[in-house]
Amino acid sequence: MRKKYFAWSFDDGLEQDKRIIETLRQYGMGATFHLNSGLFGDKTYEGRIGNLGMTEKPAARFDPAARHLLPYVPHFRIPEDEVCQVYKGFEIASHTRTHVNLARCSEEERRTQIGDDVAALSKKFGQQVIGFAYPYGTDAKQSAAALKAAGVRYARTAHTEGGFRFPQDPLRTNLSCWHISSKTFQRLEQFFAAEPEDDDLFFLMFAHGYEFDFGTKESNWDKFERICETVAAHDDVVCCSMGEAFRLHGYPHG
Ligand SMILES: [Zn+2]
Repeated sequence: MRKKYFAWSFDDGLEQDKRIIETLRQYGMGATFHLNSGLFGDKTYEGRIGNLGMTEKPAARFDPAARHLLPYVPHFRIPEDEVCQVYKGFEIASHTRTHVNLARCSEEERRTQIGDDVAALSKKFGQQVIGFAYPYGTDAKQSAAALKAAGVRYARTAHTEGGFRFPQDPLRTNLSCWHISSKTFQRLEQFFAAEPEDDDLFFLMFAHGYEFDFGTKESNWDKFERICETVAAHDDVVCCSMGEAFRLHGYPHG
């Protein structure tokens, strides 16, 4: 019997994840959280244009109450002494040690940024980290060797042309949808209507927790909850983490 999987994927390990997790638990949904082990507790503010976070300001040198050209929301990372408790029961994946653009790194830096992060997170959370998300969506092909050396089995890009198929190359796993899309519910309806005939289907939904704080038409907490409610109402969809979806479906070539 072919199956349909749905997974959420959240980046950066933010304070907003606490509220996200409350809702995920309420609807019995899994998720993968991509963390940077070198940035726990780091605080910045994120300025948005439309529904996109565009610029980060360090909290120590930023007054959110002052007048600014862009609206800002907090991008506060959960402190190290809280993370194990907060993410209990969810899949932890890597996002590099200090959120670097891998396309601009040397091979040695890539191996350190990925390898050290995977090792630190695996140790901290007591689970073997096998997932990854490319910071800034820079899915540089040249990262493949460093990812494989670190034991990473799947890596998420920020491209939305993933459709509902499992990727041929799990190190370039594209999204089915970024929640800020105006077509989010349309995409979900297409997924619910799709029949998994020759292969399992996979819907991968991406978000940064801070985006729900935008409070815009396409990016807000109410929409997040409605997405969860809509997906959870479909009994034939398995709601799990990315790693669980890959494990249950199987990786290409074994
Ligand atoms: Zn990120």
